[in-house]
Amino acid sequence: MSGLDHIYVEMKMNFNAYLQNLPLYEPGKDIQAVANEYGLKSVVKLASNENALGTSLKVIEAIKQNAHLVHLYPDDNMSELKEKLAQKYELKISNLIIGAGSDQIIEFLSHAKLNSQNAYLQCGISFAMYEIYAKHCRSRAYKTESKTHNLKELKDLYKRHKDEIKLVYLCLPNNPLGECLDRDEVYDFISFCDKDCIVALDCAYNDFAAFKDSKKKIEAKDLIANFKNAIYLSTFSKLYGLGGLRVGYAVGDEDIIQNLYKIRAPFNVSSLSLKAAVAALSDEDFVKKSLEMNYKEMKRYEDLANNFNISYIDSYTNFITYIFEEKNAKDLCEKLLKKGIIIRNLQSYGMNAVRISIGKSEDNDKFFDEFSKLYLL
Ligand SMILES: *Cc1c(COP(=O)(O)O)cnc(C)c1O
Repeated sequence: MSGLDHIYVEMKMNFNAYLQNLPLYEPGKDIQAVANEYGLKSVVKLASNENALGTSLKVIEAIKQNAHLVHLYPDDNMSELKEKLAQKYELKISNLIIGAGSDQIIEFLSHAKLNSQNAYLQCGISFAMYEIYAKHCRSRAYKTESKTHNLKELKDLYKRHKDEIKLVYLCLPNNPLGECLDRDEVYDFISFCDKDCIVALDCAYNDFAAFKDSKKKIEAKDLIANFKNAIYLSTFSKLYGLGGLRVGYAVGDEDIIQNLYKIRAPFNVSSLSLKAAVAALSDEDFVKKSLEMNYKEMKRYEDLANNFNISYIDSYTNFITYIFEEKNAKDLCEKLLKKGIIIRNLQSYGMNAVRISIGKSEDNDKFFDEFSKLYLL
């Protein structure tokens, strides 16, 4: 035995116990990795709800224009982007905080409100990061029996554990299932909650919902004017096509925002990400085109499901969830992967279902073609 072996045998590292049962976030598979693994020339990814049209050309231009400045730390006040967002939402800059994705804001919120003595509330199945960050804070999760948002159940559960619950997430519309509460229902729920409980509205896909049905639209300004304990979360990762650059933000009462700032590390968003987000906000045509294409292509996914008698959840987002009776979701996902199509298996959520991000027309063609063949086998 060499000296080094001896050290390795002796050393047994202990880690914080909560890490043992921590659920892990399952990211969509990487296109290049799938291409390499199966020896494929082209791979279509319909798994991470990215913008099928890519991003605005204005974004690409802004990144090129600012590339020579990468040796400098970003503007830590993030003034340019904050001013643009303040204009968009008709708010004060002090109502805004920007994060490396809205994921990071969810992390800040957990640290600001949760601890081992309290809990958070969500519907049965929702965005996985709520629970992961809550667990980092040793806090517990209350989830409704219903998988999707059910107002009555959310209220009942809240009422039963009122003293414990200090944070509630409503995902509007919900990832990974795609349903969406109406604004009136959301307001009704917030009114029902205690002033010391933050109600976080995760609006990562709310523009998609508002485009389909104006009753779903959450107006950040109106929200925070009415409720001091509500916070509006959004991101540039989905509709604006900046998933790779990690920019998200929250709008809320100054008191909440100031406290979230205490948790933020300096320079948490990169300089090119900030420039890209500013440029993205300036291209309304791109946003409109993305929304129109989404629902035009979504219709084709609904038609396919209807033709095959597959149940699906009426979607207010840029993805659709198919629920299977006989076919096995895992098996289908694996077979599609071999054909170069990545979709999301929802079995880890306890559902025999898949989530498919709406792609551009030719990518959807490829999906329909391969899926139909496999499904009819
Ligand atoms: C994608 C997503 C986010 C956050 O995405 P970021 O890339 O971290 O901004 C937050 N909530 C939901 C529901 C999402 O789907």
